[in-house]
Amino acid sequence: MDKQYKVQVKDLHKSYGKNEVLQGINLNVLPSEVVCMIGPSGSGKSTFLRCLNRLEVPNGGHIYVDGYDIADPKININKVRENIGMVFQHFNLFPNMTVLENVTLAPIQLKKANKEREVEEALHYLEIVGLKEKANVNPKTLSGGQKQRVAIARALAMKPDVMLFDEPTSALDPEMVGDVLEVMKNLANQGMTMIVVTHEMGFAKQVADRVVFFHDGNIREQGTPEQIFDHPQHADTQNFLDKVL
Ligand code: ADP
Ligand code: MG
Repeated sequence: MDKQYKVQVKDLHKSYGKNEVLQGINLNVLPSEVVCMIGPSGSGKSTFLRCLNRLEVPNGGHIYVDGYDIADPKININKVRENIGMVFQHFNLFPNMTVLENVTLAPIQLKKANKEREVEEALHYLEIVGLKEKANVNPKTLSGGQKQRVAIARALAMKPDVMLFDEPTSALDPEMVGDVLEVMKNLANQGMTMIVVTHEMGFAKQVADRVVFFHDGNIREQGTPEQIFDHPQHADTQNFLDKVL
């Protein structure tokens, strides 16, 4: 394990039956780095992210986050998830709680923190995502974009070291996408380490420090946005970009 990295993935393998979905992934992420992952549907991007916070158990390899090997079967998974926030395509908010309760639930339960302080902090994170005034409403009254911003506030409330995003804007109406990307951009500018699976090539160009192209369970190519978007070296990358740009 190399201490300079926030996340270090070594030779990660994951199979479902005979289908080898991740075929030996290596990836190092520096503190405050923003890595955008692009690639065709089915190439293994979501599986990769899910391995990173142990929603999936890898079949082989190592994943070091702040010194802990998450791929180790003996790891304390709750501890891991406290440090790695995840935002999904479909927000997964708790429907029978207010927005504020959604944001405070995990910190109060897992960190056994002081309730009043957690409420104060939750309001702070809701302010960051521009939804402080919605604290006491039920999430079902919110738009998709607002729900996703609540999901981001909920993840931030755990004070994670790393944030993972799996196509956070794919399920949103087009007019909602900008607000969510803006929140993510601000997070990036404040130094959050982020791994973002996205189809938003504009966001990747503008915000990513590095773009990683997934293809058939492998990282086919990676580089700066300029390298990947303007000078792709691999035919698979070029083909993919021809389809999406
Ligand atoms: P992506 O996010 O790039 O679209 P995924 O990681 O979702 O790709 O899927 C990669 C491959 O793994 C696909 O072939 C998919 O069918 C398969 N897969 C994903 N999750 C499961 C699962 N829980 N069980 C079986 N196969 C799965
Ligand atoms: Mg996916």
